[in-house]
Amino acid sequence: MGKRGTQCTVCAHREASAIDLALARGVSVTALARRYDLGSDSIYRHRANHLPATVRAKLLAGPDIEGVDLDRLKETESESLLAHLVALRHRLFAALDTAEEYNDAGTLTRVSSQLHANLELTGKLLGDLGVGVTNVNVLVMPQYVELRVALVQALASYPEARQAVAAVLHQLESKAAAEIKPRELPS
Ligand SMILES: [Zn+2]
Repeated sequence: MGKRGTQCTVCAHREASAIDLALARGVSVTALARRYDLGSDSIYRHRANHLPATVRAKLLAGPDIEGVDLDRLKETESESLLAHLVALRHRLFAALDTAEEYNDAGTLTRVSSQLHANLELTGKLLGDLGVGVTNVNVLVMPQYVELRVALVQALASYPEARQAVAAVLHQLESKAAAEIKPRELPS
């Protein structure tokens, strides 16, 4: 996860990623210090210096399905399929970024088409369930993928700008995933 001080006992810990995820989820430093046999001060320092908000947001976005109001979706089969699609989409977006970073055109094309299929199926599924997306969100449209790829590619010669844009895109995508909720059903 980028450059981190070699002195940091948390970064050096073999369960560093689990600790980061726990911190992102708001698990208390005291609890983590006890569980992983680390100094509280080290964890506070690590959280302040090595775990920026963007990383925390990304960790939370992960393949996690919190935020999707599954309770209100009626069909059990469709629920798990929808949850799976949402989780898969996060991984596909991450793969898309990696492909962009390494200028891997083959993977880029493959992942883009998988994203298209994913978004189409999600839309169809939400339609079949008689639920809608609470806010019409451009991020759930297949055209968004095309725009995203074009935008990030256009910034290829400007690595800093590209990184900044990618960070914003990640945040928007996490937010969009959290907003996918069924519409109020008429009573
Ligand atoms: Zn650290």
